[in-house]
Amino acid sequence: MQEITTAEFEQHVLRGGKVVLDFYSTECPPCEAVAPKFEGLAALYGKDIKFVKMFRQQNKPLAESLGVRSSPTLLFFDNGVQLPITLTGGIKRSDIIHQLDSMLSKERVLEIKKAIKPTVSEFDVLILGAGPGGLTAGLYLCQAKVNTVLIDIALPGGQVSTTHEVSNYPGFIDPQPGYMLSHNMSEQTKQCGTIYKVAVDVTKIDLEKKEVVIDEFETVRAKKIIIATGTSPNLMGVPGEKELKGKGISYCATCDAKYYGDKEVVVIGGGNSAVEEADFISRFASKITMVHQFDALTANKQAQEKLFANPKTSILFSHEPRSFVREGDKMITEVEDLKTNTISKLASDGVFVFIGMKPNIDLFRNKLELDQWGYIKTNEDMQTSMPGIYAVGDVISKKYRQITTAVADGTIAAIAIAKELN
Ligand SMILES: Cc1cc2nc3c(=O)[nH]c(=O)nc-3n(C[C@H](O)[C@H](O)[C@H](O)COP(=O)(O)OP(=O)(O)OC[C@H]3O[C@@H](n4cnc5c(N)ncnc54)[C@H](O)[C@@H]3O)c2cc1C
Repeated sequence: MQEITTAEFEQHVLRGGKVVLDFYSTECPPCEAVAPKFEGLAALYGKDIKFVKMFRQQNKPLAESLGVRSSPTLLFFDNGVQLPITLTGGIKRSDIIHQLDSMLSKERVLEIKKAIKPTVSEFDVLILGAGPGGLTAGLYLCQAKVNTVLIDIALPGGQVSTTHEVSNYPGFIDPQPGYMLSHNMSEQTKQCGTIYKVAVDVTKIDLEKKEVVIDEFETVRAKKIIIATGTSPNLMGVPGEKELKGKGISYCATCDAKYYGDKEVVVIGGGNSAVEEADFISRFASKITMVHQFDALTANKQAQEKLFANPKTSILFSHEPRSFVREGDKMITEVEDLKTNTISKLASDGVFVFIGMKPNIDLFRNKLELDQWGYIKTNEDMQTSMPGIYAVGDVISKKYRQITTAVADGTIAAIAIAKELN
């Protein structure tokens, strides 16, 4: 692997044959997450594809001319031609491999794959999920000198990193941008010394053996496992939703509201998330129509009052979506009036869905005792029904799912485990 500058771009990239170029920055956690994957793949593919990296801040004009807007960004070149794929953000090893493989013959790819050697690493504690629950457990364990690894399919931070503002996390007088709060939590745990394996594919979880396989070849074993995988948004399960997910239907206001400046938006839901996120979306959108299945909102009074005072927002009570279609650049939401059973159509520029969450337990659903809604049952030490397996945060059976309660769970599990390992 070679570090190059703008002056060397022509020689090493444009005249370099098959090349992958990593634009990185300093103080950039996603860059740190991709660096070991890049190095590992350079060792595997290095005979066929040249791996080079460039410091983005010092080569800004070139980066901009190549369409690089964030760090890290991986660009691919074949005989001087920039290939149409760009990888950025929380880049997975499998995404890079997919692109590298497409640049080589099938036979050569098979030879390279044969050279991959499975690895095994051992820790005292393996934490699955790096949201507030997992990060707090990681911090306490690290401070107790327990050898701990944090594994996440995405970058660290969990749901907080996509929450626009957090005003109820103690210790901050002013509301905090969610990404900042999660960044600080993550850096605090990382600086303590907890090992991070993030933006990975979790291929297999064996709770009995207490091992997790990541990126297909790397087995991580531990004496104890903490499950901190949180929740994901519920889907409505109506026609058109799957097809238009990410193409007009969004589940994240922080991620997507900015694309709806002066546009009309439909928001599905009526709980706290829906009402608070509708308020945020109204900073951008010109008009918001909320669709709610009941005849009153279920969000708290303060959030409701703010919404009712917002002139951009109107609410269709006792209505449910029945289908979504795209007509030109408009989204058409078919809604049913639950009182009259009549169907009507709402045209908008985009739809946001906030109708609750479901626990992320797909890889171990049948192994642990769950409550009737599918959340993991734990005792007061956060132990699950399986010895040595703990669970914390939103994924467990409990009444209130907040950052503070996830952080508290993580604290309890870590202290209990540290004592047991002693
Ligand atoms: C829109 C919105 C706004 C919110 N606003 C607030 C607020 O203002 N104040 C407040 O206190 N709370 C708020 N919450 C709730 C808060 O975000 C959660 O309670 C908190 O994030 C839960 O933390 P957690 O660690 O349990 O899970 P999460 O934050 O969900 O983190 C789980 C992590 O696990 C990872 N993961 C998932 N599956 C796997 C797997 N198979 N293997 C490895 N990793 C996996 C995910 O990538 C994620 O990083 C809000 C939630 C939403 C959705």
